[in-house]
Amino acid sequence: MKVTEHIAQTKKTLFSFEILPPLKGVGIQAIYNTLDPLMEFKPPFINVTYHRSEFIFRKTADGLFEKKIVRKRPGTAGICAAIMTKYGVDSVPHLICGGFSIDETEDILIELDFLGINNVLLLRGDKMKSEEIFTPQKDGHKNALQLINQTVKMNKGAYLEEELNNAMPTDFCIGVAGYPEKHYESPDFDTDLQHLKSKVDAGAHYIVTQMFFNNQKYFDFVKACRQIGIMVPIIPGLKPITTKKQITNLPKIFNVDIPSDLLKEFEICNSENDYKQVGIEWAIQQCKELMNEKVPVIHFYTMSNSESVKNVVANL
Ligand code: FAD
Repeated sequence: MKVTEHIAQTKKTLFSFEILPPLKGVGIQAIYNTLDPLMEFKPPFINVTYHRSEFIFRKTADGLFEKKIVRKRPGTAGICAAIMTKYGVDSVPHLICGGFSIDETEDILIELDFLGINNVLLLRGDKMKSEEIFTPQKDGHKNALQLINQTVKMNKGAYLEEELNNAMPTDFCIGVAGYPEKHYESPDFDTDLQHLKSKVDAGAHYIVTQMFFNNQKYFDFVKACRQIGIMVPIIPGLKPITTKKQITNLPKIFNVDIPSDLLKEFEICNSENDYKQVGIEWAIQQCKELMNEKVPVIHFYTMSNSESVKNVVANL
């Protein structure tokens, strides 16, 4: 089933989980170890992130350095298929522009279609660590909007080879990313919102937000979206903070704020366990408030650590 169909059918808030493919060389059991403890909450769908290749430098025998391209977390499509087979729940692969030509994008969309996967979350992807700014692949998409346009065309049976007659249309339900605290590259909130509107106008069916720790930012974001005519479901994304390090790392990596009330609670923590408990309790309160406001789904960023997410959902 499509994400939008799950949303249309439910009367209560659903819980979905986002996982990362394991590092190359680690088996699929790692995915099951993350998901097994969460399946009791009957997630309607599981998201699986996509990770672009990175350049690394390796020292050669003659003492020089060679530049190599390495994808550290491959396997998104295969993991999605495995999840559907093992648990009988829908999966949502993330697809990114970075590192893909439009032909390669078409190929992966065909593969997903053949696997019976008809949900995708379409993203631009971040810049490579070695880049100053995001650089698209030669013949690749520059932003999520272009990726949406390609997918919407395929949903109408239009592939890259224009001479294909009566080509089978795909039937993807398309999700996109939204940023309650604005995307870090955008000059201002309103410009970012207009870009989000372009993605929805182009055919995106729903939005999943970046993580936030202050629900008011989500409520304000939804209100601003509705005011400019973005009417699709907006799924809040949450991440319980589980370590002291994340208090500084998460805002840096994801360009989000941690509210002063939460920071005050962290100030009196003495152990890693204290930090985890505060993070879990904060996420529980966020969820309760969001559920009171009848959000259709809460999307949890597990970052491959299901323990604290399980703790949160078990308390709802
Ligand atoms: P876009 O919508 O293309 O926007 C990127 C920037 O360009 C924004 O600042 C936007 O305002 C601006 N922009 C858009 N259109 C235009 C235009 N026409 N002219 C000028 N500016 C424009 N990353 C991964 O690599 N893998 C993942 O699996 C992944 N999953 C994610 C899941 C969620 C729910 C979220 C919220 C993010 C995820 N990301 C993932 C991170 C995401 O790829 C980055 O945040 C990326 O920097 C932006 O992606 P986007 O799809 O929002 O880009």
